[in-house]
Amino acid sequence: ATPTSIMAGSGRAAEYGILFKGGEHLEMTRSVNAVILDKTGTVTNGKPELTDVMVGASSLTETDLLRLLGAAEKSSEHPLAEAIVKGITDRGIELVDPTDFENIPGYGVKAHVEDKQVLVGTRRLMSREAIAIDDSVEQQMNELEGAGKTAMLVAVDGSYAGLVAVADTIKETSREAVARLRAMNIEVIMITGDNERTAQAVAAQAGIERVLAEVLPEGKAKEVKRLQEQGKIVAMVGDGINDAPALATAHIGMAMGTGTDVAMEAADITLMRGNLNSIPDAIEMSRRTMTNIR
Ligand code: ADP
Ligand code: MG
Repeated sequence: ATPTSIMAGSGRAAEYGILFKGGEHLEMTRSVNAVILDKTGTVTNGKPELTDVMVGASSLTETDLLRLLGAAEKSSEHPLAEAIVKGITDRGIELVDPTDFENIPGYGVKAHVEDKQVLVGTRRLMSREAIAIDDSVEQQMNELEGAGKTAMLVAVDGSYAGLVAVADTIKETSREAVARLRAMNIEVIMITGDNERTAQAVAAQAGIERVLAEVLPEGKAKEVKRLQEQGKIVAMVGDGINDAPALATAHIGMAMGTGTDVAMEAADITLMRGNLNSIPDAIEMSRRTMTNIR
């Protein structure tokens, strides 16, 4: 590989918003045969919106529930929390500060609001905290998730109090990019901490057949390693702090330029355009550059 053609290749890629950190990454990218895509913010726009609120059979009114929920999520930087807080303040509800807040990565949040203990998050969080969830609530959750929404359970002082859902939309270009990768004989897998049903619904919209769902934050890198041990040359594509270990582990880490700095630092390539077509573009450019060299 001549340094000159690598430099020319990197320069051409940069014109398309594909920033390689070093020549070795441009060389390696042509060999990628499996691409793992993070769901939120990578396959989807990552701007979820609060769509559904269901009050449980408690003495709380919807406004009470939203006030407690909003306060509990106020200190969280998770995109789901931001969606919830925005949805609630947009309804004209003012939020107090929680007296106590704990972020539980991959599960949700635990907070104290006005002397009440508030839990928001997954089924797993509720079972961990021994909160009983009725079959009818489970049913409502399943329906929301089947529509591709992320549903979150709320418990107040140790009992189920309600359910909220947020919806994110897939990027316009995700389906096309996935089809291009598959036409290049590259396996495409979506990975997420979100639940199986929501993940399958979103993946179907993007034309992705293989899904790894309910993966805890530390599990993403493990999944990358597992594929590598099967002999795959893996590119991981993500945007979040959660994705950083997986981006660093993969043969090629690709960070969305629209994402967190932590992800960009861990990655080998930054995709300045949020467009997933940059993935097949990068692989094609690498193949072309390396053919010219030989
Ligand atoms: P992702 O990979 O989609 O970013 P995470 O691992 O961050 O997912 O979170 C997994 C799941 O945990 C979410 O789908 C959600 O149900 C729950 N969760 C995480 N953070 C929060 C939060 N701040 N409030 C409520 N639920 C949360
Ligand atoms: Mg993400």
